[in-house]
Amino acid sequence: MRYISTRGGMPPKSFSEILLSGLSPDGGLAIPETYPQITAAELDAWRGLNYQSLAFEILSRFVDDIPAEDLRRIIDRTYTSEIFGNTDITPLKTLEPGLHILGLSNGPTLAFKDIAMQLLGNLFQYQLEKIGNELNILGATSGDTGSSAEYAMRGKRGIRVFMLSPLGKMSRFQTAQMFSLQDKNIFNIAIRGVFDDCQDIVKAVSNDRAFKQAHRIGTVNSINWARIVAQVVYYFKGYFAATKNNDEQVSFAVPSGNFGNICAGHVARMMGLPIKHLILATNENDVLDEFFKTGIYRPRTTTETKHTSSPSMDISKASNFERFISDLTSRNANQVAELWAEVDNGKAFDLSATPFFEKIKDYGFVSGNSNHAARIATIREIYQKYHVLVDTHTADGLKVGQAHREADIPLICLETAQAAKFAESIIEAIGQEPKRPAGFENLEDLPQRYVVKDADVQAIKAYIDEQCNASV
Ligand SMILES: *Cc1c(COP(=O)(O)O)cnc(C)c1O
Repeated sequence: MRYISTRGGMPPKSFSEILLSGLSPDGGLAIPETYPQITAAELDAWRGLNYQSLAFEILSRFVDDIPAEDLRRIIDRTYTSEIFGNTDITPLKTLEPGLHILGLSNGPTLAFKDIAMQLLGNLFQYQLEKIGNELNILGATSGDTGSSAEYAMRGKRGIRVFMLSPLGKMSRFQTAQMFSLQDKNIFNIAIRGVFDDCQDIVKAVSNDRAFKQAHRIGTVNSINWARIVAQVVYYFKGYFAATKNNDEQVSFAVPSGNFGNICAGHVARMMGLPIKHLILATNENDVLDEFFKTGIYRPRTTTETKHTSSPSMDISKASNFERFISDLTSRNANQVAELWAEVDNGKAFDLSATPFFEKIKDYGFVSGNSNHAARIATIREIYQKYHVLVDTHTADGLKVGQAHREADIPLICLETAQAAKFAESIIEAIGQEPKRPAGFENLEDLPQRYVVKDADVQAIKAYIDEQCNASV
């Protein structure tokens, strides 16, 4: 299996070669040359597998330069009931016949990003040990991604995490989750500013090529291909759990932001998993819903991007979307490069008058959007009807998913976070606080470890430099 760029400007590379890097040199995203095709016999054989064995089968199709026994060991160390709270890893909850929730948020930070990020942490450590090198992960976060990365990288040899967050702007729960980590390789940097200031600093440091190289700066953002592959596994797992045999089709409803989660569903479908519809749900930031309805992709400006009660879906552009457009245009790299030349200039593109717009339905995509009132009503309704409490993001998926539900096609809604993380909205919906999962009861009382800095690129560079020289 070799990987190429969506924009055609990268010689084919192996999995390990693309593992640590984000973008391709030409600005595109890494994609496999072809999708591995799963035969009917393989699908039959996989039905009975546990999560770890299924993950091994799927990952082996995409990773051919890590010895099988090493890959198996990495997977077994990642997907444990200690880390994910249960032996199923992604348990399926049936609300009523034909309507299910796939639980993806039982990891350390109570959000679905843990599933991919925990694997990434172990893959990174393995690869860095092999090449005898170290990595300094620099990121900006307003919530989920940062804590998920820190919990995946904590205590890992050869890896430091420098995570910038806007001082006093995250929820108390999220702040406590990150800042309570006492690991020596985790550096929480609270910036006197807003999230965009944090992101600007990360960009400025990454654009300083000399500094970046000398300090081995890397990222863990959602365009990392290994994260997508890790997420393919639970589409298969959810399919097997919701069906009796492989002649059945299912549809998935996916609360979407950067198109990472649903991109994995697209890959699963391209591999041959019998998925009828991939139902994409957005919140008020409906850039993707707009595309699937009109063929126009118009990334928003920061000022146009709304702060909502499903904050992890508050995006202005969808960083993984280029991977789907690459497939939609039959891997026409020149075309993708042309379209993203527009996007990178802050412009829109319009496929409505092209044959590609018609082709979208061949890929199973349908879409819809949600808003605060619908989200709160959905949380209340699901709680009253099924005695199940869902978070705000999952509620958006359930709302849009149910609107597209078809008789005889099981609908699997992906649960992307736990209700406990969004207490304010839960109180609004059902008039009481969500229960905290075990181990999170006194999170806000734990001692916190972080530094406060001005939004000053030089100061952040100096801090990184100092820490790199100080610790081993
Ligand atoms: C990141 C996130 C999403 C959006 O996932 P994408 O892969 O960016 O589409 C949805 N819900 C939660 C809780 C998240 O953390």
